[in-house]
Amino acid sequence: MDSPLLGTIHRIVQSIDRSADLSHALDNLVVGIHEALNVDVCSIYLNNKITDSNILMATYGLNPDSVGNVSIPFDEGLVGLVTQLMEPVNIENAHLHPRFKYIPECGEEPFQSFLGIPVIHHGKNLAVLVVQQVSPRRFGDQDIAFLTTLAALIAGNIAFAKARGLIDEQGTDFSQSRGSFEGIAGAPGISIGTGVFSYNYTDISTIPDRKPEDIAEEETRFRSAINEVVKELETIGQKFGDNLPKADRMLFDAFALIAGDEELVDATIGRIRAGNWAQGALRDTIEWYAAKFESLDDAYMRERANDIRNIGCRILGYLQPKAQAEKNYPEKTILVGEDLSPMDLAIVPPEKLAGIVSGHGSAYSHLAILAHALNIPAVLGFSGQLPLPRLDGKTVIVDGYQGRIIVSPSDLEMKEYRELNAEEKLLTENLAMLQNEPAITTDGIRIHLYTNTGLLTGFTQALSVGTEGIGLYRTELPFMSKDSFPSEDEQQSLYRQVLEAYSPLPVTLRTLDIGGDKPLPYFPFDEPNPFLGWRGIRFTLDHPDILMTQLRAMLRASIGFENLRILLPMISSIDELEQAVALIHRACDDIRDEGHFISLPKIGAMIEVPAAVYQIESIARRVDFLTVGTNDLIQYLLAVDRNNELVARLFEPLHPAVLEVLTYIATAAKRTGTHLSICGEAAGDPALVILLIAMKVDSLSLGAGDLPRIKWVIRTFSYEHAREIWQQVRQLEYSAQIRRLLTDELVKHGMGGLIHPGG
Ligand code: PEP
Ligand code: MG
Repeated sequence: MDSPLLGTIHRIVQSIDRSADLSHALDNLVVGIHEALNVDVCSIYLNNKITDSNILMATYGLNPDSVGNVSIPFDEGLVGLVTQLMEPVNIENAHLHPRFKYIPECGEEPFQSFLGIPVIHHGKNLAVLVVQQVSPRRFGDQDIAFLTTLAALIAGNIAFAKARGLIDEQGTDFSQSRGSFEGIAGAPGISIGTGVFSYNYTDISTIPDRKPEDIAEEETRFRSAINEVVKELETIGQKFGDNLPKADRMLFDAFALIAGDEELVDATIGRIRAGNWAQGALRDTIEWYAAKFESLDDAYMRERANDIRNIGCRILGYLQPKAQAEKNYPEKTILVGEDLSPMDLAIVPPEKLAGIVSGHGSAYSHLAILAHALNIPAVLGFSGQLPLPRLDGKTVIVDGYQGRIIVSPSDLEMKEYRELNAEEKLLTENLAMLQNEPAITTDGIRIHLYTNTGLLTGFTQALSVGTEGIGLYRTELPFMSKDSFPSEDEQQSLYRQVLEAYSPLPVTLRTLDIGGDKPLPYFPFDEPNPFLGWRGIRFTLDHPDILMTQLRAMLRASIGFENLRILLPMISSIDELEQAVALIHRACDDIRDEGHFISLPKIGAMIEVPAAVYQIESIARRVDFLTVGTNDLIQYLLAVDRNNELVARLFEPLHPAVLEVLTYIATAAKRTGTHLSICGEAAGDPALVILLIAMKVDSLSLGAGDLPRIKWVIRTFSYEHAREIWQQVRQLEYSAQIRRLLTDELVKHGMGGLIHPGG
């Protein structure tokens, strides 16, 4: 396609982005297409899944009164045909087509030719774009290419604008949705609370609206922020003095002028007086200014939009600190953010954190793992689909079982979810009674249940659910939450607390698994493919100083206890394993040379890179135990980024290939007589656990929140029955069939509540 068309597409997309609401966005869209293709009619119909019909939402050329009033069932008319086929329908003489449906309200009798293009978002129909012409005309390939490209680009914007309309409760009844949005289940559970948006100070567009407590004070705050920024920009200009050519220095003066510009100040004050806090008012003014620049044809002037946003962020910087210090979290806070990190959770007082909603992330990201560990329902993966700042201050239900949130729920929804909450509480109470019972199948096969911890310091919860020890202590957090590598003494005292709290139960400390999605604030990893890069053992073997410090800290912490085990992450070759084991021996000798008595701890290797699976017997000969890291093993086996919400639905522990690999590992572990533990989030999936029983794994390591349910599964099934189920599963070729079969088994055994309360 030639560049003028690309330019046109860009402009149409921008005009949609800037529209105040869905109806303006769609009006801009149809007018833009009419102008670009010179067609007599351009209309857009939105899918309504509840009534199974397409509703006319905007038109250029048809009777404007029909907007919102014309609804065409999916199985009728040419528009319905586009929805059904999910592909373009291009017809020269539309009224002769068997699917043509005459709709008197539209006034479309004169239009002979028809081209309909589906608007598809994440594999689902969202809308149909239609262009029509009076004269019989077969639209050309160029027209189809233009509209298909445009449809693909605007799908996200339309979904977003639709969601925004629903959240703001301005939505017409085109969808009759109750403001329920599907994301990715991050951590199970149900909570009802108030949304608190955690915004990013460097991105002004993420600032939510809020009502100011005192408008006059808000005005003063804003004016003093402006004064500070103007002063700061002038000082920067002066600081460069003669080192910068005068013309460049003037840039800072220009910035200072923009920051103090009367129009900018007045417009923002106007918005404050209309009832928004200074940050929200500033966001609207800055976005309005930036949009003005972005709409200009001159590329240099368009680029100035970024300057405006930068200045906005600077002003924001002066408005923020006070606002943050004064933050009062509601009793039941649903923390919402575009890209929440494990660190963000720490900002909310723990007793108030009730739920988590994040734009980025999936069930296997570290945010989800932390939510699991804290037993806080989480739904993730809304990036680009929901205006998340708009959830600030709204009542939100987080359904971490179904991966769904409901914004401003109706009374009926509140009632329904309160009941589910009560059922869930009852189930938890019943499960608590199993605390002191062993995890043993009905025919006597014992599977040890350990917990994962380390991403947080509170580890007493795991003891209270009856864990048999720590199967995985992720040592990354103390490294991530500091501004330098922690010293040997700091690490030693932290590890000792855990070893002591659990003694004599075993504690498996994993060596640093930094990299991937766990960056260090003081040591940047700048890699194009971090998950295939300098991660885990690869990093620590390249930094024996850091690894030796950590090993010494672990060993010193274990003096007087006999419960330390050391686990090595991301092993992909025998060389790596041998080097790491040699360092453990060296560290042990060092400590003994210092006069302490310690025995060599048990050493384990993580099986989480596919290469390790196929060298498992060689690995097993060199270690005391094997731990499968299902999060990474599945990621690398299925080539699905564990953090990417776009492919999150492909991350399936019940994929037949994953199950075969797990069987291969279990068989090899048995053959070599090596203890096999399964960790990662999949170990908390009741459906997979039925098969892990059949594979006779020795232990599972899972989040404390998942332990009671998994114990229930183990105590309900017999090994013999699990084997039979496994034989049936091995005949199936589709993950969905496997999940259905296993879910049916859970339901048959009265455990539907593990999948969803009431289920
Ligand atoms: C895993 O990969 O399954 C695992 C337990 O380790 P992490 O999630 O920390 O990468
Ligand atoms: Mg891992």
